[in-house]
Amino acid sequence: MPSTSQLKKLSKVYIWSIFNHAKVAACLLCLDRCHPADSLCRQCRMNLPKLGLACDKCREPFTFDNKITEQTHTENLLCTRCQKGKRAFDDCVIALQYASPVAEMLQRMKYSGHLSYVKPLTEKLTSTLEAHYADSPWPQALIPVPMHWWKLRKRGFNQADILARHVGKQLSLPVLSRSVTKSYHKQAQMSLNAKKRRQEIRGGFRIRRPIPFRHVAIVDDVMTTGATAEELCHTLRSHGTEQIDIWCIARTPPYS
Ligand SMILES: [Zn+2]
Ligand SMILES: [Zn+2]
Repeated sequence: MPSTSQLKKLSKVYIWSIFNHAKVAACLLCLDRCHPADSLCRQCRMNLPKLGLACDKCREPFTFDNKITEQTHTENLLCTRCQKGKRAFDDCVIALQYASPVAEMLQRMKYSGHLSYVKPLTEKLTSTLEAHYADSPWPQALIPVPMHWWKLRKRGFNQADILARHVGKQLSLPVLSRSVTKSYHKQAQMSLNAKKRRQEIRGGFRIRRPIPFRHVAIVDDVMTTGATAEELCHTLRSHGTEQIDIWCIARTPPYS
């Protein structure tokens, strides 16, 4: 339910549009006037939480606890886990940090079906991708992280699939929504640490249709420890996919 001040703002936007014979829209976050082609005003777009200094491989944001102070230079900056061993993916692109208001936008999209947030979030991911792949080859197809059929039935949509379809349309890349399935349903993993998440998700995906591409990108809304995406990478690699990138809207700060 909008507050009185928000309703006042909204009415100002529409009164302005009537007197100026112009099409305007209200920003999804602050309800200020914005261009009809945009979902967020310029200020709100600029204020979306940036990822900041993060691992070059898995894009986990650095904190004072995870050894950033021990690095002597900023080239090839890797987190402790990426320094120790090989990750299952080749590259990782994240648009934003999982902090307010992005966290609320993703939660409302996922749990309350507010799909109006998809456009501004995927546009931000697309612009991050365009900068990232300026000098390197793009993946040939997108694979949304699949949802178990029971959860899909309950929620009515898979947010990763919706995000992948928007990004695929913006970048003219095919989306393979039915090639992989989630073979069992477990509880949400947000509270588990990295080791427990890896154990929970092991063997959780099945290839349903052959994937005729050697380089793909896995698409998801949020990356926490990366356990889900890495398990999907193992499944895809065991069926012949050679190069796998991960694309997500947001990355959470590291869990201990
Ligand atoms: Zn705004
Ligand atoms: Zn890393």
